[in-house]
Amino acid sequence: MSFDSLGLHPEIMRAVIDVGYTEPTPVQARAIPVVMSGRDVMAGAQTGTGKTAAFTLPVLHKLQPYANTSASPARHPVRALILTPTRELCDQVFASVNAYGKYLPLRATAVFGGVDMDPQIAELRRGVEILVATPGRLLDHVQSKTVNLSQVEMLVLDEADRMLDMGFIYDIRRIIGLLPTARQTLLFSATFAPEIKRLSEDFMRSPELIEV
Ligand code: AMP
Repeated sequence: MSFDSLGLHPEIMRAVIDVGYTEPTPVQARAIPVVMSGRDVMAGAQTGTGKTAAFTLPVLHKLQPYANTSASPARHPVRALILTPTRELCDQVFASVNAYGKYLPLRATAVFGGVDMDPQIAELRRGVEILVATPGRLLDHVQSKTVNLSQVEMLVLDEADRMLDMGFIYDIRRIIGLLPTARQTLLFSATFAPEIKRLSEDFMRSPELIEV
């Protein structure tokens, strides 16, 4: 299969060509069309399979038609929220969003714990369409009202099993409770433990199961 047949936006394809990918990995080939169709996805994929691009590329594609270049922060609500277990993964996913989205007029930022909140608050104030976050720090921003999640259209839970192993289940459920129910949810996990299944039953709409 070629990337061209997936129908991704030309400005996203330009960025994919820049990074040198010639064909989608199996999880990308299976997940990207389903995400583009608007369905929820529950994907079993380990690190190294290309899972980050499997959600980042179609998320960028789906947000792109509404992208705008207005300077007003109110016109840049958070539309895609990507939750990751660790600061390192948060950074990596943010780098991927920037790499694949570099030709799109979309703004993104990353918020994670262990660092000063002020620079993150300044970024959030500018307005971002894509927010990559660790659960604890995101809730700190919710608490201090420095982020608004009421316009989120797409939620990605990356490495969901690791987030649960790290004790984030309560935080995740709290965060999901703040999001609109009319949204698309993508869950990526190396394993589907019972707790992951419960999470998907509670918060996803007949997800397509993809295992590679
Ligand atoms: P991930 O599983 O998302 O951590 O990605 C693992 C590695 O695969 C990263 O270094 C990506 O840059 C790379 N990668 C992702 N998609 C492709 C692709 N379609 N072709 C070649 N390399 C890829």
